[in-house]
Amino acid sequence: MNSLNTTAVERVSELLATLNMHTDTHADAPLSNWVAGELAPGQGERIELLDPVTGLPLIGYRDAGAELVASAVEAATQGQQEWMSLTASERGRRMTAAAWALSGHEETLAQLESVVAGKPIRDCRGEVNKVREMFEYYAGWCDKQHGEVIPVPTSHLNYVRHVPYGVVGQITPWNAPMFTCAWQLAPAIAAGNGVVLKPSEMTPLSSVAIAMLMERSGLPKGLINIVNGVGPTTGSALTSHDGISKLVFVGSPESGRRIAQAGAERLVPSVLELGGKSANIVFDDARLDDAVAGAQAAIFAAAGQSCVAGSRLLVQREAFEEVCERLARAASEIRVGLPSDEATQMGPIQNAKQYQHITSMIETARQHGARLLCGGQRPSDLPAEAEGYFLAPTVLVDVTEDMAIAQEEVFGPVMVVMPFDTEEDALRLANATRFGLAGAVWTQDPARAHRVAARLRAGTVWINSYKVINVMSPFGGFGDSGFGRSSGMEGLKEYTVAQSIWVETAPTASVAMGYGSGVD
Ligand code: NAD
Repeated sequence: MNSLNTTAVERVSELLATLNMHTDTHADAPLSNWVAGELAPGQGERIELLDPVTGLPLIGYRDAGAELVASAVEAATQGQQEWMSLTASERGRRMTAAAWALSGHEETLAQLESVVAGKPIRDCRGEVNKVREMFEYYAGWCDKQHGEVIPVPTSHLNYVRHVPYGVVGQITPWNAPMFTCAWQLAPAIAAGNGVVLKPSEMTPLSSVAIAMLMERSGLPKGLINIVNGVGPTTGSALTSHDGISKLVFVGSPESGRRIAQAGAERLVPSVLELGGKSANIVFDDARLDDAVAGAQAAIFAAAGQSCVAGSRLLVQREAFEEVCERLARAASEIRVGLPSDEATQMGPIQNAKQYQHITSMIETARQHGARLLCGGQRPSDLPAEAEGYFLAPTVLVDVTEDMAIAQEEVFGPVMVVMPFDTEEDALRLANATRFGLAGAVWTQDPARAHRVAARLRAGTVWINSYKVINVMSPFGGFGDSGFGRSSGMEGLKEYTVAQSIWVETAPTASVAMGYGSGVD
């Protein structure tokens, strides 16, 4: 191990010490789980993580394993009961306190995420702020989930309560670990559930830190549990556990299918937030400065490791050459570098497997006739220690819609630019994938903007903008991008189930308890 990598290893230890997340001295590994209000070691195989910057060993920890998952479900069951014994207003107050429990730890959390996930530090600071925002937003919902009274045609008072499922199992990916953790934890507990969450095995620590800081601020012990490990062991122990009443999954369509199948085995419903192949449509009357800036942000932010990445840029033929030229120039100016550098706009790809997936998709596209406008290789001017998974912003043209690069999710800083002639043409191309997560339209014609937006088969559509999301607004996909919604009121509703209560109000029962008079 060279001295530079020792620095990254030491940096993680320092950050964990600052957060008081102790190391399991027997295994010489971080205590990588938060179960029943305690940090706990994993019990399974050791998992080794590499530093995205150098490609050298960074941290190792033990897979949680089925027994620890069972303890987490048990703790969540008890934590949930305690949580629901509080008044709704008190739950709201405690969630607000949980949001502010991150105060003073923001920079440590951002640094920890930046080192382990390889994300630029300024992006990680933004993620910490989002965590707080999500808890504050859903704290406000705690005492506003009143039910409804239904005007039934009998003498009954019929009212509906929105009740929690009980214990929810959540599984998240590596590309935005803190964001996705808070994104699902906050509505789940605001709705009254206990949670067992499994982050990606690639980014285990920040979710543990968030749960620990928040729970210690006054949430019932065991309300939130974090278990770390891989899908086939810890993941499937969670999805198949009898104590879990709902599954919420954020990740790839391949894993999403397995999670939905595991739920179906036990007749447990799921929400799937999956990948995308989002179309970013630029008409020739668009303000091209804005459209080109938006196109870059759409794909190169987070090195394209974003579910809503605008990976297909569709440009009206009259503007095609100009947009391509501007894009190639702008892409070559993006600062790719160390995540710790404040000036870095794009860091490395998070892991070796993903790096290989991206580079092999570029290579296959080239073999099928696609042409590189820029990128496609490691940037030439990286600092010496940046021997990890760096890739220059990549733009491909001469792409046909049947190529894998135009159909499959790359999940990296790779954009294809394709021309179109008419509005119909643009819509047909945009909707011609299995995905349906997001999309955008750039035009100065408002009628066309709304017309096209309405016909895009995508859960989120931006007009003259890209990548703006907020916890207040529903988010989710069509097709292979998943089902169910997160964020906003819709996100909250996913965590409750309606219970209908019938109360006879007539002096004598007007319905003979269902015998021949109404209910079959
Ligand atoms: P992934 O599907 O490989 O893994 C996601 C999570 O699922 C991980 O925690 C993993 O351990 C777990 N998992 C895998 N197999 C499992 C199994 N059989 N049982 C239980 N758990 C299992 O995805 P990834 O590579 O971590 O993340 C990238 C993907 O996530 C991309 O497709 C991206 O678009 C998607 N994503 C979607 C959203 C969204 O909101 N729609 C947000 C972020 C990322």
